[in-house]
Amino acid sequence: MKPPAFEYAAPATLEEALALFEANSDSAKLLAGGQSLVPVLNLRLASPSLLIDLNRIPALSGISRAEDGSLVVGAMTRHRALELSKPVQETHPLIHAATAYIAHVQIRNRGTIGGSLCHADPAAEWPAICVACEAEMTLASAAGTRTVAAEDFSLGVYTTALAENEILASIRFPAWPAGRRWGFQELSRRHGDFAIVGVACLLDMDGQERCTGARIVVFGAGDRPAVVAEAGLSLAGKTIGQGAISEAARIAAAHIETRSDHHASAEYRSELVEVLVRRALSQAAGMMAKDTKGTK
Ligand SMILES: Cc1cc2nc3c(=O)[nH]c(=O)nc-3n(C[C@H](O)[C@H](O)[C@H](O)COP(=O)(O)OP(=O)(O)OC[C@H]3O[C@@H](n4cnc5c(N)ncnc54)[C@H](O)[C@@H]3O)c2cc1C
Repeated sequence: MKPPAFEYAAPATLEEALALFEANSDSAKLLAGGQSLVPVLNLRLASPSLLIDLNRIPALSGISRAEDGSLVVGAMTRHRALELSKPVQETHPLIHAATAYIAHVQIRNRGTIGGSLCHADPAAEWPAICVACEAEMTLASAAGTRTVAAEDFSLGVYTTALAENEILASIRFPAWPAGRRWGFQELSRRHGDFAIVGVACLLDMDGQERCTGARIVVFGAGDRPAVVAEAGLSLAGKTIGQGAISEAARIAAAHIETRSDHHASAEYRSELVEVLVRRALSQAAGMMAKDTKGTK
């Protein structure tokens, strides 16, 4: 199928795009990489009368390092640019590892971090990465900008905190403390598919190898990425061995509400939560290979 007819605009500045969006917010759609929107249009699940293409706005793309060490990423930055960025790999290695799981390289060449976050598929990697890293989104409208914590940005399946006249402009990832460790695991039916369940985790340790903080995020299991605070708390003050890891994994499975769909039952997803939390924590603790998927 082909999409219904629409007008097309390609503004050169964010201000121009915001003014156009403000004037047409009930009938316009924003085009980023098109990897989710174009299929939606072709299937006629959406019929915007105007498509506002963000691809010609240089200010929306790029990766920079702020003075405080945080990473600021333009919403139109492609998945692949983040995956291949050496500075990102050095400062936020979870991003490098997790982006390799997004679809296939051709899709990562076009798809953008902002498009993925705004599409808000509960099984997508970016919303989970952002929640794990406690990222902060900058949303722009003709009236100005506001910031929203990643945890408050995805509200449910294909639903976000964006108002109808807002454009996601950038994402800020706070600097990682020294010695932070990470793990990322997911299970999908075929290579490149969305995750049935995935887990991202971060472990902060003191000089005595005791855990000072753990953040465990599960995605694909429910309708948005979820922090399992109880499982993270169970690790605080402990040295990370198999016993502590298994206990945290059991707690995570008990606290995460899972959904059933045509990919998997809720019961199967609960099993996966336990297994993948165990694997991700083992990976973070250095008990298994870091790069289980590698870059393609
Ligand atoms: C075969 C296939 C497999 C895939 N597998 C995966 C996978 O395993 N994991 C995964 O995470 N993704 C996967 N994807 C989706 C892919 O990552 C897309 O890139 C992503 O979901 C959308 O990004 P996009 O830049 O293409 O956005 P678009 O498709 O252009 O836009 C998506 C939505 O976001 C809105 N939007 C875009 N940018 C902004 C903005 N800056 N501000 C406000 N709204 C905006 C658009 O209006 C639209 O509603 C897959 C896609 C395909 C086709």
